[in-house]
Amino acid sequence: MLTINAIPAFEDNYIWALTIEGGELAAVVDPGDADPVIEYLDKHGLKLGAILITHHHGDHTGGIRELLHHYGELPVYGPAGERIPALTHALKEDDTVTLEDLHASFRVIDAPGHTRGHILYHGEGLLFCGDTLFAGGCGRLFEGTPEQMYNSLSKIEALPDSTLVYCAHEYTEANLGFAEIAEPDNQALHQRIAETRRLRAQGEATVPSLLALEKATNPFLRSHQPELIEAAEGFAGHSLNSPAEVFATVRHWKDSLD
Ligand SMILES: [Zn+2]
Repeated sequence: MLTINAIPAFEDNYIWALTIEGGELAAVVDPGDADPVIEYLDKHGLKLGAILITHHHGDHTGGIRELLHHYGELPVYGPAGERIPALTHALKEDDTVTLEDLHASFRVIDAPGHTRGHILYHGEGLLFCGDTLFAGGCGRLFEGTPEQMYNSLSKIEALPDSTLVYCAHEYTEANLGFAEIAEPDNQALHQRIAETRRLRAQGEATVPSLLALEKATNPFLRSHQPELIEAAEGFAGHSLNSPAEVFATVRHWKDSLD
């Protein structure tokens, strides 16, 4: 059975390690740093079999060359639309990544917004979404437009509620702080904030999260909710005419507070 573990890196990054019981090879998603990956795999008697990349930012790709130097040539999957070091498989929407050693396969989803070529990996009930969706938030729009990001998040929203969402950063507590400003009467959100505080007080990760919980509490997946629309219109000072406009306003609102 496929198992996913977090390898913490830098301040608040998670590099995801994919393994199966009794297997000798692991895959990692977004290795921004090689050292913690090597340390983790050594500790578990594993070697690296594949690297999956969601987008080009250094905190997601910075460890690739050292990992290849350490483990030898291996497949590096990543977005066709971005420059990724040592990329061997350039991926676009609806491509399939099959990791035979792990008996797992993933469908690629194009998700421009945070960066122009950002991709997501969906399969086995899991979503590796890099810096597109965060637990309780979403990535900043460094290269894409709000319209693009809204469309990318809508693709995530269309996935099954039972999907486990593996984002690349532990930003949840701060994200939910903003969510509470935007939707102060959301009861599911209050429960999530309490649970998140409990986990963080114990030093535990709040990722992955269930997509159903994101839909119930993440303001960036709730652009059709009357309470959020009203709050966004209050911030904008005028009426908003589409969910994409609501999304753009809420993103702008959060940016103005960061
Ligand atoms: Zn990024």
